[in-house]
Amino acid sequence: STAAPSLAIEGLEGWYGESHVLHGMRFDVRPGEVVTLLGRNGAGKTTTLRAIIGILGKRAGSVRYDGVETIRLSSRAIARLGIGYVPEERGIFSSLSVYENLMLPPRVKPGGMSVPEIYTLFPNLEERAGSQGTKLSGGEQQMLAIGRILRTGAKLILLDEPTEGLAPVIVQQIGHTLARLKREGYTILLVEQNFRFAQTIADRHFVVEQGRVVDCILNAELDANIGKLHAYLGV
Ligand code: ATP
Repeated sequence: STAAPSLAIEGLEGWYGESHVLHGMRFDVRPGEVVTLLGRNGAGKTTTLRAIIGILGKRAGSVRYDGVETIRLSSRAIARLGIGYVPEERGIFSSLSVYENLMLPPRVKPGGMSVPEIYTLFPNLEERAGSQGTKLSGGEQQMLAIGRILRTGAKLILLDEPTEGLAPVIVQQIGHTLARLKREGYTILLVEQNFRFAQTIADRHFVVEQGRVVDCILNAELDANIGKLHAYLGV
């Protein structure tokens, strides 16, 4: 089936130990959309992604994916529904080759990309197939982290600051890749500090402050709302 999935989050609460960090998050990602979470450092964007994929110690509320309530499911069960996560730190195993890193995560759904398909998407990775993870540039590591998730068959991809620390030309390349994934029917939820990058690919932006969504800005209206956005982000 090519039907794209969708995510609906309501009243999401999250904690690190005793520290209550998410306070009733509410937003949705429609089938085939690219949606970003924007907000200052510490607003709770990364924690929201961690709550969605079930690796936050304590969470409550409702996270529905394709109509399935996931709030009480294990991270494994959530992955099997087809939700993939590319963490900010990328999680590349430095002692393994590019190819071995690609093969690491298990396939959770039919329809995941083959290694040749991943190499078509990221030609740099094919050239580096035998290189160790440590020998890769930041951009190549990011591509490997994305490619690895596409192999699993996940159709909703959560990305945490994929462009952080990368050169403009690489940022542009990653933007083209995400746009292509969108055209192929993937649904993408992106945490991003660089809203100019987000603007090149997103449909909607949710602004996060202190563990809540405080605004939704349509991408088409981003420029008209730039003053408001600067105030939110403190830039
Ligand atoms: P950043 O861009 O800095 O990652 P963010 O919006 O993603 O910002 P989170 O990382 O989700 O924010 O952090 C939300 C809050 O949770 C912050 O107050 C942060 O200090 C706290 N926090 C994050 N990780 C942990 C942790 N492992 N243990 C305890 N508190 C944490």
